[in-house]
Amino acid sequence: MEIFSRMRRTAAVLGLCAALIAVPAAASAEPVVPKTPRIPVVSTEQVMPYLRALQSVADRTGGNRAHGTKGFQQSLAYVKGVLDKAGFRTGLRPFTHNGVLGHNLIADWPGGDPGHVVLVGAHLDSVEAGPGVNDNGSGSAAVLATAVAVSRAGAAPKRHLRFAWWGAEEQGLIGSKDYVRKLSAAGREKIDVYLNFDMTGTRNVQQWLVVHDEPRATEAFEAYFAAKGLPTFDIGIGGSDHESFGGAGIPVSGFNTGVGECLHEACDRIDNVDPETETVSTNAVLSVTWQLASR
Ligand code: ZN
Repeated sequence: MEIFSRMRRTAAVLGLCAALIAVPAAASAEPVVPKTPRIPVVSTEQVMPYLRALQSVADRTGGNRAHGTKGFQQSLAYVKGVLDKAGFRTGLRPFTHNGVLGHNLIADWPGGDPGHVVLVGAHLDSVEAGPGVNDNGSGSAAVLATAVAVSRAGAAPKRHLRFAWWGAEEQGLIGSKDYVRKLSAAGREKIDVYLNFDMTGTRNVQQWLVVHDEPRATEAFEAYFAAKGLPTFDIGIGGSDHESFGGAGIPVSGFNTGVGECLHEACDRIDNVDPETETVSTNAVLSVTWQLASR
């Protein structure tokens, strides 16, 4: 009896199929299925459609998705629509920059300890020069695919999961700064970690650049890429929305795949994103988010 239950625990740790060591029902009253569901995996076809949708938005609205444009508004409506269908509690948080109305999109997954929030975000705006499909349709799509995978799995994480798509990052981290500024001291305290993703599908990726700050998240990203034999390089806090959080004393992490050959230009189209890199990145976002929210 003890031998069997030890075997089951070992199998759960190794992620083995519980059926392999199933014992006759009469021999045990304990459930054989591990308590923590296995972390789901997102396929290329579960993330690339989001990028194609953002490219179409830009194509329809004059070539970009910048702050204050129709392209940004339609990007926001598209992402919100996907999240609403997946069962998230979504809300638009308005702010004004350069006399123009902007928005952040916040999506809460119902449940989890509201005193311990894992917040995962990406900026949704592009520059005016182009459609911004790698910068930052890719990060936006990776975070969206992660949220949808959480919903599909019916996840019930220990901590509260919140996802965010920021406006006006390209104008100076405006949306994320506005969000952080409007948090109460207690609200800031509740965010255990903020994970940021700004460019996750760069072609000819050299290294996954990991933001080295919150230790468990940083280690989890490094372990994820190491297990796949992918090179990483540690970077500090700066250059994107995690700076708004880090500056307010909120622990941060995340990663990006580097700037690549086309940045902030009209050529940052769908073919500026490598589907394989985007898929690897999305699964890294999902795996680490899942791990952090589960404990
Ligand atoms: Zn960016």
